[in-house]
Amino acid sequence: MYLLNKIKAVNKVYEQLEKHNSNFRIKSCLFCKPDCGECCLTNHIEATVLEFLPAAYNLYLSCEYESILEAIDNKIDEICVFYNPFSREGFCSDYNNRGMVCRLFGFAAKTNKKNEKVLATCKHIKSLIQPEKFKSSILYAPEMSSYYMKLYCIDPWLATLHMPINKSIRKAIEIVAMHFQYKKKKMA
Ligand code: SF4
Repeated sequence: MYLLNKIKAVNKVYEQLEKHNSNFRIKSCLFCKPDCGECCLTNHIEATVLEFLPAAYNLYLSCEYESILEAIDNKIDEICVFYNPFSREGFCSDYNNRGMVCRLFGFAAKTNKKNEKVLATCKHIKSLIQPEKFKSSILYAPEMSSYYMKLYCIDPWLATLHMPINKSIRKAIEIVAMHFQYKKKKMA
């Protein structure tokens, strides 16, 4: 699959996930604490390279990728380079192109050792769970493994290249920039 088609395919998975996720939020009555953003402030977030191809492409189109690469190089912590406490949307400077991990965390299910669906979430969201409502609504939660499998089907290598978030963002930018610069040179 060509790189642009992979980016479109990842975006399509994100569209499905957004619908799935908002349906689950309505059914479960769970939501993020207003003005929180704590999940993005975690030091050890890991992500795959594939999930950041759309963000990397957006940076390439807006010619901002070099400044983000520089910001990653100058970082002294591991907090995501896109984290922006002043951003109007979700503390993220590129909320629309955020990664899969960002979209799943808080409102997605994983299966525990007893083969039960449990929510991968934070303490704030957990505190809102109403046990009776939750028992029925958890069935509607997006499953982490199934969404990662959708990415795997797009590109098995990039979907399993799993690293600290800024390294994955860097790699995604390098792949996108190299690909489109080479294409531009070939056409010149
Ligand atoms: S990409 Fe955006 S939403 Fe995801 S961890 Fe970084 S700042 Fe948070």
